[in-house]
Amino acid sequence: MQRDEQIFDLIQEEHERQLHGLELIASENFVSDQVMEAAGSVLTNKYAEGYPGKRYYGGCEVVDVVEQIAIDRAKALFNAEYVNVQPHSGSQANTAVFAACLKPGDTILGFDLSHGGHLTHGSPVNFSGKLYNPVFYGVKKETGIIDYNHVEEVAKKERPKLIIAGASAYSRDMDFKRFREIADEVGAILMADISHPAGLIAKGILNDPLPHCHIVTTTTHKTLRGPRGGMIMMGKDFENPFGLKLKSGKLKKMSTLLNSAVFPGNQGGPLEHIIAAKAIAFGEALTDDFMHYTLQVQKNAKAMAEAFVAKDYHIISDGTDNHMMLIDLRNKDISGKEAEEALVKADITVNKNMVPFDDKSPFVTSGIRVGTPAITTRGLKENDMAAIVDLIDEVILNHQDDDKLKAVASKVNAMMGDKPLFA
Ligand code: PLP
Repeated sequence: MQRDEQIFDLIQEEHERQLHGLELIASENFVSDQVMEAAGSVLTNKYAEGYPGKRYYGGCEVVDVVEQIAIDRAKALFNAEYVNVQPHSGSQANTAVFAACLKPGDTILGFDLSHGGHLTHGSPVNFSGKLYNPVFYGVKKETGIIDYNHVEEVAKKERPKLIIAGASAYSRDMDFKRFREIADEVGAILMADISHPAGLIAKGILNDPLPHCHIVTTTTHKTLRGPRGGMIMMGKDFENPFGLKLKSGKLKKMSTLLNSAVFPGNQGGPLEHIIAAKAIAFGEALTDDFMHYTLQVQKNAKAMAEAFVAKDYHIISDGTDNHMMLIDLRNKDISGKEAEEALVKADITVNKNMVPFDDKSPFVTSGIRVGTPAITTRGLKENDMAAIVDLIDEVILNHQDDDKLKAVASKVNAMMGDKPLFA
């Protein structure tokens, strides 16, 4: 068969873009060669509906072992009693948890999207806001930090069935213990969505949700540095609180409900090539090298936030505990959209982002979100951060001057061109 040069040329073009640019999107990373190899392997050819040892297809002996290794490594990494590695994405992991715990119309309490939450935490444009009745908590205007008393107030008033602790654009650590106290007060199930900080949580440098939350979901491709995908975990399995029974009359375990919500509830065949890549990424994350990596991600984010503050940028909550920061650009007279577009011209990638109490639309926004997982993988250290902030500042100050933006792009290319994608 003829090689599809049209697509391979585009893949090469994207490779060059990733190699020569500064990747500051907080949810992105660069996987290792072995993760990439597994993701592009013959396992993509295999159907394996079901779970290891209980499949609906023949020939699953090999993928059974692969999937079990992924589960066992994830259990070791997060100290979890239950893991499901099959969700194709973070959104599908959340979909499955909701399906297992809720009926349409039930109330869910999530972090407001415009304050840092995720679409799947109840946004009206997402299934979670259409199928369920979403209510929200947010950050305090003066501090930019989650107001736990407000979370408690809303929970007591609205009596949600499920509370979601998790965010896509929140630079502070979360108090999962406090969330659990609130959930217990109103009899809600507590789910943490650790998609963003999962790698830092795995290595113990941020609060661990597993001892406190009933259920934890994550993506595998952000700070965890695996292939694109999702995962569901429980620190401890428990009998479902809905009274659902097995034929034997015993209450069904939550693990049984979650497994059936993933397959056959929401998905068909698992992506065994991606599950193999997840297994490899979890193996990498179990090493001391990954500990150094996550510490460096955090150091880089702190150094970057300090450099931004020194140049009079307003970081929401005035700093960061994790891998990212949200910058309110209103004092710089530029929208998030304009900043994102100008930065792309200078080969710097960030995303525009709503900031809490934003007065602009989600298509324009007043802010940008910046993160350090990807540049840390490429080998950049805390001493490099001030230079990066200088480049970003140059772009923001000269965002309408294409010649200046081109000049910044040359500096970015000189900085990044000799660094391998995976350091
Ligand atoms: N949950 C959170 C907190 C996220 O930040 C994201 C992705 O950005 C998701 C879920 C969804 O993940 P995916 O894009 O894999 O569906």
